[in-house]
Amino acid sequence: MENNLLNAVKEAGIVGAGGAGFPTHVKLNAKAEYIVVNGAECEPLLRVDQQLMAYKTKEILSALDIIVKETGAKKGIIALKEKYKKAIENLNTNINQFQNLEIFKLGNFYPAGDEQITVYEVLKRIVPEGGIPLGVDVIVINVETLLNVYNALNGTPVTDKYLTVTGEVRNPVTVKVPIGISVKEAIDLAGGPAISDYAVIDGGPMMGKIISDINQPVTKTTKGLIVLSKEHTLIQSKEKSIATMLKLARTACCHCSQCTEVCPRNLLGHKIHPDKLMRTASYGSTCSDSSTLTEAFLCCECGLCEQACIMGLQPWKLNRFIKSQLGEKGIKNDNSRKPIDTNPFRDYRRFPVKKLVARLGIEKYDVDAPLPLKEGTKNEYKTIKMNSRQHIGAAAEPTVKVGDIVIKGQLILDVPDNKLGAKIHSSIDGTVKEIQQDYILINK
Ligand code: SF4
Ligand code: SF4
Repeated sequence: MENNLLNAVKEAGIVGAGGAGFPTHVKLNAKAEYIVVNGAECEPLLRVDQQLMAYKTKEILSALDIIVKETGAKKGIIALKEKYKKAIENLNTNINQFQNLEIFKLGNFYPAGDEQITVYEVLKRIVPEGGIPLGVDVIVINVETLLNVYNALNGTPVTDKYLTVTGEVRNPVTVKVPIGISVKEAIDLAGGPAISDYAVIDGGPMMGKIISDINQPVTKTTKGLIVLSKEHTLIQSKEKSIATMLKLARTACCHCSQCTEVCPRNLLGHKIHPDKLMRTASYGSTCSDSSTLTEAFLCCECGLCEQACIMGLQPWKLNRFIKSQLGEKGIKNDNSRKPIDTNPFRDYRRFPVKKLVARLGIEKYDVDAPLPLKEGTKNEYKTIKMNSRQHIGAAAEPTVKVGDIVIKGQLILDVPDNKLGAKIHSSIDGTVKEIQQDYILINK
């Protein structure tokens, strides 16, 4: 019989709240020696996880304790940055109530929250190339996901999302919103845009993507919305096409290897050399027999190589392009080495977040989170749009029909048992207005 934890997590439709949306009931259906909570929140400007650890401390610790017991883990370790003083204080006050939980303080470098980097920092275990933390007996879980597990065990499914709205807005805020409200409505909760000609990044400044339509809905994986002028260098660099970037690379790449020197996956001991991939793309040769295009599969797209490149080139964009091209041809990652040791200079090449913030030109937005965390809004939303794909795997299928009356927390989209995916519940009381292949609209 399926255990209570997995069943509750599955029924609540929990997915990794900080990344690609991997279904949590699948991730937790394993045994591991350690559960590591990824509380690094290393993307500048985002303030969700650090505030949840500070103000939902007991809930997060209780959920972690249950997961540790259910997975047979030896220990649960919350990895968070040393600078998150309030979160550390509150965790330390409560952690003694739990036997096998502890905290680990991370330095303020990027990308401390890349799960392979977090695992190495905490346990000195190197995840093999192309592998996942379970390969070294570790499950990594996101902070907000833990809060969702706590709620699920108390019978509440995922209907809301915490997100930071910042940048060129009147009052930056970290707030809980119903999933399915529009990006525009979420930005209005921060007082609206402070400028007229703006672009919005979904996620952090480093890995976030530009939102093409502000009417699109907030989903289970929305973590932050950053409003910036369309002229901002960060927006310009994200919008640069791969063709333009490669054209520049042909004349500007001086083969300095700085991109490879800072690459966190290379420093971990993985065989990835962004400088060589840039050479391949520019000249059709790596000048090396030992480098192949499939190295691109080892790139986590953290974007640090761009910040190290004095020419402003974007090896990460090339890697993303190579991965999609190889994928279309059915070519898979063939790198699976298990490094025994990291690069000996790794400790000296960590990229400080302060330097990163300065390079990105976002110092003025790098402010402390307003406290306390805003638990929801008084706004009544007339319509919500629930995307049927808010997770990795198959799209969820409607369990309701047009005209049905639904209540908050009611299942509206489900995934067949034999497919990977996560259930989706209504985030408001209302009536089903429209059903399309990609979404369901619900009117208040
Ligand atoms: S850092 Fe820039 S210029 Fe140097 S090798 Fe990498 S892409 Fe080329
Ligand atoms: S984005 Fe750049 S720095 Fe980050 S893993 Fe990929 S190649 Fe390395």
